[in-house]
Amino acid sequence: AGAVRLRGVSKRYPGGTLALDGVDLSVQPGEFVCLVGASGCGKSTLLNLVAGLDAPTAGEIDVEGGRAAFMFQEPALFPWLKVGQNVEVPLKLRGVSRAERRAQALDLLATVRLRDVADKRPHELSGGMRQRVALARTLAQDAPVLLMDEPFAALDAMTRDALHDELERVWLERKLSVLFVTHNVREAVRLGDRIILLASRPGRVIQEFVVDQPRPRR
Ligand code: ADP
Ligand code: ADP
Repeated sequence: AGAVRLRGVSKRYPGGTLALDGVDLSVQPGEFVCLVGASGCGKSTLLNLVAGLDAPTAGEIDVEGGRAAFMFQEPALFPWLKVGQNVEVPLKLRGVSRAERRAQALDLLATVRLRDVADKRPHELSGGMRQRVALARTLAQDAPVLLMDEPFAALDAMTRDALHDELERVWLERKLSVLFVTHNVREAVRLGDRIILLASRPGRVIQEFVVDQPRPRR
């Protein structure tokens, strides 16, 4: 099975660019896979296809439970909503009752150690804190698969290191399957059980590496 599975996936954009060419790739349940490659090699395209935001030209894509949550480089929080209300948005979309939403949002904020800023506005927080709120909001979708497109690329190195620890903890606790895109090899080595290298022209898997990660105890 696999949490995410791509078979012979190709994507040609209108205009002719072949962004992906026959990609075979899988993420096992509970696995953390990093997708690495130079700018323009098709990483974002691949993630968008897995998320169902765009359709492949050829090939098949299966996602466990048919659902994946997507987290981007920009936290894209709603500035007019308080932090807690931002986390409540996916809960509302999932039909969680008004009474339940507040409690669940606070629990999710506690997961990223930000329960005490629930009533602040996003602009009152640091960049790292905003990205942790975005992670809580992504978790609120309650999807087994997490897709991340360079989520920490805009942060300074120290904040990024802290977010790596945070994400690793959340991933272990919630037994998520993660497909994490980055052009930062150091970041991939820090996080991934497996690193998949995508070649530039045309977008193809050229190499896979298994990383023997020293993980914190579960
Ligand atoms: P990466 O995320 O690895 O930088 P992308 O998936 O963004 O790569 O892009 C892969 C290739 O597809 C690039 O040549 C890019 O210019 C092209 N591309 C990406 N999005 C589009 C689009 N919407 N329309 C046309 N070409 C695109
Ligand atoms: P980050 O590592 O997320 O960038 P900072 O280094 O800015 O966070 O802040 C470290 C901690 O200080 C935060 O986790 C938070 O508990 C607290 N903190 C920082 N700024 C604020 C703020 N504006 N309101 C409330 N707490 C804050």
